[in-house]
Amino acid sequence: MGRVYNFSAGPAVLPEEVLKEAAEEMLDYKGTGMSVMEMSHRSKAFDTIIKEAEQDLRDLMNIPENYKVLFLQGGASQQFAAIPMNLMKNKVADYIITGQWAKKAYQEAQKYGKVNAIASSEDETYSYIPDCSDLPISEDADYVYICENNTIYGTKYKTLPNTKGKTLVADVSSCFLSEPVDVTKYGIIYGGVQKNVGPAGVVIAIIREDLISDDVLEGTPTMLKYKTQADNDSLYNTPPCYGIYICGKVFKWLKNMGGLEVMKQKNEEKAKILYDFLDQSKMFKGTVRKEDRSLMNVPFVTGDKDLDAKFVAEAKEAGFENLKGHRTVGGMRASIYNAMPKEGVEKLVAFMKEFEEKNA
Ligand SMILES: *Cc1c(COP(=O)(O)O)cnc(C)c1O
Repeated sequence: MGRVYNFSAGPAVLPEEVLKEAAEEMLDYKGTGMSVMEMSHRSKAFDTIIKEAEQDLRDLMNIPENYKVLFLQGGASQQFAAIPMNLMKNKVADYIITGQWAKKAYQEAQKYGKVNAIASSEDETYSYIPDCSDLPISEDADYVYICENNTIYGTKYKTLPNTKGKTLVADVSSCFLSEPVDVTKYGIIYGGVQKNVGPAGVVIAIIREDLISDDVLEGTPTMLKYKTQADNDSLYNTPPCYGIYICGKVFKWLKNMGGLEVMKQKNEEKAKILYDFLDQSKMFKGTVRKEDRSLMNVPFVTGDKDLDAKFVAEAKEAGFENLKGHRTVGGMRASIYNAMPKEGVEKLVAFMKEFEEKNA
């Protein structure tokens, strides 16, 4: 069986070129006589892999010198605790709740201090991004937290919140490297890589240096202290070596493609194909406010549960995998990350058209 079009929200599709290259290097990485999976994380070969990966990421995102790049483990979810532990000097933080991942981060942070939900879109099943131009930011907030792209609901901030001078912390798991960002607007940008960058097991955190110190909450585990990881260039203990290696390949793939400006154009083109279809379809409907639509995750419904199920089953049969919506939302969701080729989206839309005609 050949490869399918994989619309999974994560772990998700990776560039075929990257997978092929990794396959070629599987048994003998560049004359070392071993796989990257088998080599010491202190070896010369791995040192080159992690340093190149960091440099390529710095080039792609234009990361300033005063930001550290950390390759961590524990998933994005581990950061829900690490962030308050490292940043809560006043034990106060403001959270904007735009979906389940933001809510989970908010709930976790409550273990460590006073956490305020300063805005939320829960009232309309997270189908929009609240107006964040003039929020009641707490005077003594250590940071303001957002989930920039909401993987489950399919919304994305088109403008960052006005934090009134407070440090912005953003979970970018599902929009990492999908378009250019101005790193200087954030204190921390972090994400699990299994959505848009690499295999599960790696979390990348880009942290402004002044936020990295020994002044962390009492009881913070050594491993969760950013300073430990920063002082040791992400090699305090064994890092997720193979995952970092694949991320490095994806960074090179992005650079060869022309970088994040080009990636953004491609992502806009792809998303437009699907959204344009949804906007004129009599059967399929997008579920979120148009201005807040994500370029990466596109949820849609027919309005009829049985028809949704029929669509997902027939799509799978036709080689379109993982189109079922999140278990808490229902309907469908097409995740169209960087590595999803345009023809995958075109073919999906052609299939949807046909399905609509047959089932009208
Ligand atoms: C998937 C996801 C998470 C959770 O990631 P884990 O690595 O499984 O902990 C958190 N935030 C966002 C935005 C996600 O898409």
